[in-house]
Amino acid sequence: MSLDKKLYTLKYSPDIKSHLKPDKNQCKICESKNCTYICPAKVYEWNDETKELIVNYENCLECGACRIACERKSLDWQYPKGTKGVTFKKG
Ligand code: SF4
Ligand code: SF4
Repeated sequence: MSLDKKLYTLKYSPDIKSHLKPDKNQCKICESKNCTYICPAKVYEWNDETKELIVNYENCLECGACRIACERKSLDWQYPKGTKGVTFKKG
């Protein structure tokens, strides 16, 4: 099954606060911006004008890859609270 089709089997219930908290000062000096490449859900985008990392946390699949890949180990990563976040349904 393609990734697009798999994404149709997901249900999101986003929290009002992000469960992904990068240290923005570290992001400014981060060379690789690994998170913007590794995330399968394209949660992270680097804004070159404002020099800020945009975090579209509502789309997070909770795979944990960004936490491992963060060049500066400066990503505060928590599971969303309670029943918030992504639910995997059988396609
Ligand atoms: S890899 Fe880590 S330090 Fe670099 S931009 Fe992403 S969250 Fe920030
Ligand atoms: S946990 Fe996975 S899906 Fe969520 S932001 Fe990190 S890499 Fe993307």
